[in-house]
Amino acid sequence: MKNFPLTNEQLHKLIKKFPTPFHIYDERKIKNNLQRLKKAFEWVDFKEYFAVKATPNPKIVKIFADDGAGADCSSLPELLIAQKAGLQNKNIILTSNDTPLDEFEEALKIGAIINLDDISHLKFLAENARLPEILCFRYNPADISNEGNDIIGKPQEAKYGLTRKQIFQAYQSAKDMGVKHFGLHTMVASNELYTQIFLTTAEIMFNLAVEIKNKLNIELEFINLGGGIGIPYRPEQKPVDLETVGSGIKNLYENILVKNNLNPALAMESGRAMTGDAGWLVSTVRHLKNTYKNYVGLDSCMADLMRPAMYGAYHHITVADKENLPRDHIYDVTGSLCENNDKFAIDRELPKIEVGDILIIHDTGAHGHAMGFNYNGKLRHAELLIRENGEIEMIRRAETVEDYFSTLV
Ligand SMILES: *Cc1c(COP(=O)(O)O)cnc(C)c1O
Repeated sequence: MKNFPLTNEQLHKLIKKFPTPFHIYDERKIKNNLQRLKKAFEWVDFKEYFAVKATPNPKIVKIFADDGAGADCSSLPELLIAQKAGLQNKNIILTSNDTPLDEFEEALKIGAIINLDDISHLKFLAENARLPEILCFRYNPADISNEGNDIIGKPQEAKYGLTRKQIFQAYQSAKDMGVKHFGLHTMVASNELYTQIFLTTAEIMFNLAVEIKNKLNIELEFINLGGGIGIPYRPEQKPVDLETVGSGIKNLYENILVKNNLNPALAMESGRAMTGDAGWLVSTVRHLKNTYKNYVGLDSCMADLMRPAMYGAYHHITVADKENLPRDHIYDVTGSLCENNDKFAIDRELPKIEVGDILIIHDTGAHGHAMGFNYNGKLRHAELLIRENGEIEMIRRAETVEDYFSTLV
């Protein structure tokens, strides 16, 4: 059963004030998601660095900052968003790849933790800027027996991180160059619902930390297990049991790290599991079209939500005022882009749809609005936030034609 936080009456009232389409987020649900993650790791010094790219809005990032989380950034604008949300220095991690100098410079300026994606970046950083007191390296564990993840791919094929051989060289060089404190990072899965992947990842990372200690005499201060916790986009899927993940990782922590007199802090940089199920794209039916198939044309398009077109992703759809009607019609739900993959759903069973119906596309809180683009002259739409006290705030206005033309010379 998929939920939406407003009653139909509240929704109709809201649409009078803020016309569709818009993404709407639920602060209460976001806070609850963060609490569940923190609870799973309450046995250890743990910090969540919210992956800003999932929902890059300062008002959203501030919800995390207010509840003790940090931010994981991968660009200069994301570093600025984190600061606008009130975060500073070690509460921000820069995890970029193919990183330009200005990102490194901004991270150094604000004292953010820098997570290097390649061994060559060590020299690049030292020669073009300076090395910080603390450095982190991203490990690409080709030893993971993962059949490959649709979004990240097989580790050997993934562009991220250092190889096993390089990781030892990198820590040794950084130590020789005067770096004092170290962290270790990886991110191998995305939208993963299978618990064992997280335990396997932790085991690989913990064993590597012990090897780093034994070979290089470096004690890591923190291990960042990345993001990638999936959410059940389909109604029949089950959420990841974070308690099982937390207690499984606790066992590994004790058996591998504590046994070897290591007790690093742990971190995650979850995005989807924090905001994914706390956001909805609300859209109105503009046209119905019956040709070789039956089409429902919305006032939003893949510029508002690219996941179905990009990954063939499923997003559940409900219809306001028609939640209890039988889903006895079959439609392709489309946008207005001149691209045939601009479809939110294909052959979807829905109740009989009429022009003017309000469709609620679920689980769009992460990597939804964020992936928006202007192809075909499409303008990105607004973002609203339902505060814990029930008030609804516009946290990003819709783009206008003037915005579109503002970069043209
Ligand atoms: C995208 C990304 C995340 C967040 O991934 P989710 O699947 O949203 O949890 C975290 N860390 C890095 C480095 C990323 O690229």
